[in-house]
Amino acid sequence: MRIAIGGLHTECSTYNPLLQERSDFRRLEGEALIAKANFDFAAAGIQTLPLFHEASVPGGPVRSEVFEAQCAELLDRLRAAAPLDGVLLLMHGAMFVPGIDDPEGDFITSVREVVGPDCLIAGSFDLHGQITARIAETLDIFAAFRTAPHVDVAETNARAAAMLARALKGAARPCVVRVPVPVLVSGEMSSTFVSPCDRLYAALPEVDARPGIWDANLMIGYVWADSPRATAAAVVTCEDAQAGQAAALEIAKGYFDSRTDLLFDMEALPLVDAVAALDGPAVLADSGDNPTGGGVGDRADVLQAVLAADRPALFAGIAAPRAYEALQRGATEIELGGELGGGGPRLTLSIESCRFAEGCAIVTTGPATVVISHRRRPFHWFADFAALGLSLDDHPFLVVKSGYLSADIRTLPRRQIMALTDGAVSQDLARLENLHRPRPSHPFQAL
Ligand SMILES: [Zn+2]
Repeated sequence: MRIAIGGLHTECSTYNPLLQERSDFRRLEGEALIAKANFDFAAAGIQTLPLFHEASVPGGPVRSEVFEAQCAELLDRLRAAAPLDGVLLLMHGAMFVPGIDDPEGDFITSVREVVGPDCLIAGSFDLHGQITARIAETLDIFAAFRTAPHVDVAETNARAAAMLARALKGAARPCVVRVPVPVLVSGEMSSTFVSPCDRLYAALPEVDARPGIWDANLMIGYVWADSPRATAAAVVTCEDAQAGQAAALEIAKGYFDSRTDLLFDMEALPLVDAVAALDGPAVLADSGDNPTGGGVGDRADVLQAVLAADRPALFAGIAAPRAYEALQRGATEIELGGELGGGGPRLTLSIESCRFAEGCAIVTTGPATVVISHRRRPFHWFADFAALGLSLDDHPFLVVKSGYLSADIRTLPRRQIMALTDGAVSQDLARLENLHRPRPSHPFQAL
């Protein structure tokens, strides 16, 4: 038996003005892509044909020509790999392409047209994906993350892969059942590490174990895309469609009934209050400009506020290619903030020291140490700081562009505050432009 593996993986804020280009995507091919599936297909007697997988740091909408070129190339490789018994797609589900209502739905439908009705198609998704009826109908197998922040990426790919192997070996052909839930909140309001989502996600394996059910999922969806397909959903892979429908309704009802309990997973304050509250070791998350949520990552609001308070702090980081290039030319005064279109203040900074590492300039200006990156990128893991030669022990006040904190940073024994800042992924949902989302959806309308 032969299967192909491929996928497209990104998350797009429609409030981020910076379109994603092909160069924003990192490609995985060959053995590395087979390894990403995290399942021993060879042991199951299944031959794997890796197509390619492209993923980017979340950001703005994907330029339509970029999406079309990605699809065309993937489908060409798929045609070349035919005939196939199965396809494993490693997806995110929250791509936004101007002029296209359901990019992943279009892509998966095109995959189906190439491989035909008998071929099994399995999809592995981020729980922040937007799953339309068409995606559910076109796939045979569906699995999504059960943790946010995400610490089960490899396990989720393995769940989808194992179900594909099981379906290829067995008599029963599974299907995917979807029940939408008119609730749209941020990941920070639906962390699976706190109530109520800890309880809702802990119940999913019990649903998996029921007769006729293979894999139960709760999709939170993505709140920063003003799109007609924006929705939460319960999505269940099953071989008994009736049992699957009953399970999906139960998961959907559980989430809907918990909607008013969806709250931030950490202390959250407006920026001015957050800076005023911090007088000891701390982590401050600049949530509105978090690149891993789709923010631009170029804003200097927090830097401005902390400099005004004359507080020593490490900022990791601010994306500013022009400032980075000026520093490379030896500039001792730079302009910083909003360089990529993300908005916010534009600061003039005198640079006292500067060194370079990993495509970043690490500068000191007054009491602040600032990491200025040439490209948009997060600094969420201890390894990111080690690679820059920065010890967090030397910087008791750390500012990161993040919503909920990574598994690494949340272990720091410091007060941790999420600053409710402006930006393309603002947590102030009431102020988001809302022209295209389904109505009514909590919390945009009363339900
Ligand atoms: Zn996610």
